[in-house]
Amino acid sequence: MENKTLSCPVCQSNKAEIAGENVKLSGQFENKEFLTTALVVLRCIKCGYYMFFDNTAKFTTEEELSKK
Ligand SMILES: [Zn+2]
Repeated sequence: MENKTLSCPVCQSNKAEIAGENVKLSGQFENKEFLTTALVVLRCIKCGYYMFFDNTAKFTTEEELSKK
């Protein structure tokens, strides 16, 4: 099993929570509509930056929500 080490591109924090799974984004590019494949959305705990990853990626994220 391969785990990626998470690092926020903005603040370099390695703590993030999962904001959504199997998320598909749609939009327009050069007048053509597109729909992405299913993505995992992670949100940086520190600065709130959203990161999008392929659904098959595995992460070593800490469950901040259950820490209280
Ligand atoms: Zn961050």
